[in-house]
Amino acid sequence: MKLNIKNTFIEELPADPVLDNNRRQVKEACFSYVTPKKTAKPKLLHVSNEMLKNLGLTEADSKTTDFLNVLTGNTVMENTKPYAMCYGGHQFGNWAGQLGDGRAINLFEVENDQKQWTVQLKGAGATPYSRTADGLAVLRSSIREYLCSEAMHHLGIPTTRALSLALTGDEVMRDVLYNGNAEYEKGAVVSRISPSFVRFGSFEIFASRQDTATLKTLVDYTINHHFPHLGTPSKAVYIAFFNEVVQRTLSMIIDWQRVGFVHGVMNTDNMSILGLTIDYGPYGWLEGFEEGWTPNTTDMQHKRYRYGNQPNIGLWNLYQLANALYPLVEEVEPLEAALNQYRADFELGSIQMMRNKIGLKTEKQQDKSLIKDLETLLQLTETDMTIFFRNLAAFKKDNPNEGLEWIKEAFYSPTEVTDTIKQQWKDWFQHYATRLQLETVSDSERKKAMNAVNPKYVLRNYMAQLAIDDADKGDYALIDELYQLLKKPYAEQPENEKWFAKRPEWARHKVGCSMLSCSS
Ligand code: AMP
Ligand code: MG
Repeated sequence: MKLNIKNTFIEELPADPVLDNNRRQVKEACFSYVTPKKTAKPKLLHVSNEMLKNLGLTEADSKTTDFLNVLTGNTVMENTKPYAMCYGGHQFGNWAGQLGDGRAINLFEVENDQKQWTVQLKGAGATPYSRTADGLAVLRSSIREYLCSEAMHHLGIPTTRALSLALTGDEVMRDVLYNGNAEYEKGAVVSRISPSFVRFGSFEIFASRQDTATLKTLVDYTINHHFPHLGTPSKAVYIAFFNEVVQRTLSMIIDWQRVGFVHGVMNTDNMSILGLTIDYGPYGWLEGFEEGWTPNTTDMQHKRYRYGNQPNIGLWNLYQLANALYPLVEEVEPLEAALNQYRADFELGSIQMMRNKIGLKTEKQQDKSLIKDLETLLQLTETDMTIFFRNLAAFKKDNPNEGLEWIKEAFYSPTEVTDTIKQQWKDWFQHYATRLQLETVSDSERKKAMNAVNPKYVLRNYMAQLAIDDADKGDYALIDELYQLLKKPYAEQPENEKWFAKRPEWARHKVGCSMLSCSS
């Protein structure tokens, strides 16, 4: 296996001088060297051919023992020095102090095709940042991360990627619902790939310790390597940097809203500085369209990270980042201006996203209320988001009376759709048809445009769970089936029509489907 190894992070940033792998506070350092844990019986379950290619590897490489051993942490490649990163974070609105890579170990960076990638193992053992936990990951959460990060990429949403999914052969103890019922589960390792794994919390930790020198070193490194178009770091460049992070974060979140993705734990340590979706934990996909929905059982009381609140939380998190960068900028006004821009751009961007979802190319005054009414209607009775928007594309602007026929498949309980609700839908379709008459595109052109932004296939919560249940029994075929399906989420795939279906009733309250905890 030949890789074009780079080690910019560890060569250019301050290292923790302590080499013991004991849990501790790490000061004035961006990372600690750490060796991955050897596993009992590693076995590869899946490899992403696309990521192989991105790294300059071939399928043949992925079949070697070398590949298996490196990507499960059993061998450390020559000229590489694995490390865990130090970061902090605000968790559920409170400053949590030092967190860090508690179970992620960065192996090395690879440069290929003028792109820079960091290869990281998740679940490869404890690090100085593991606090009270074991540094391991279980199969179910690893399958979820592996499939979803690749699926998000194919949806066109910025995300970290995954190269491989492997069993470790070790058993890992987990109490899924934190209710005193711990059990052994199969251990697994996912290799994750990203241009950078630096998070908002990577900067917050130094700001919280008034360590402006290390803060500046990390900000400069990030700009030089990941935002080089901004130029040589200076106060003005720090402001431009913050503005760009604001814009990337906003654009990612609008994408999440578009496809009904709920991250589940938008703590600032789970916010990528590159505006990538990162840390797939108790995430979920909207089935019924519901602004108040969250899959995360740990967040059931306040639902801080519910679907409809993601844009607000994005902004809240950016405020924390602004505070962290303040010592370098020393002016409140430009940072505040960037945050105010987020508010304004969110307002416009989300309406534009919804316009796209309903196939409006032009902008009209009445769009805002048409969209608002639609969002209200979708929540009157449980209505499948994915099926609704996909089927809406078949609506004919000259036949508004047929509207309900096109979309009725999206209703979970047709009996709940009372005559009053039917009438409200009919009225909405009338307004929609009238609005469509102001557009110049034909019905079929509109359908094509809508199908390019409304996915037909997403990783519904129960689909991932089916793959997990099979994998637990040693059958990994569904992992590949879903992986292949989700490569073309916007395409019609007649052979896969069975996945274009509402959540089955058995999955409504099943753990792993609608209820996920942080336990992983
Ligand atoms: P998360 O909410 O999953 O992003 O995790 C928050 C923090 O807990 C991060 O610092 C993780 O590295 C750490 N963490 C989560 N699970 C484990 C684990 N099993 N072992 C060690 N650290 C963990
Ligand atoms: Mg995390």
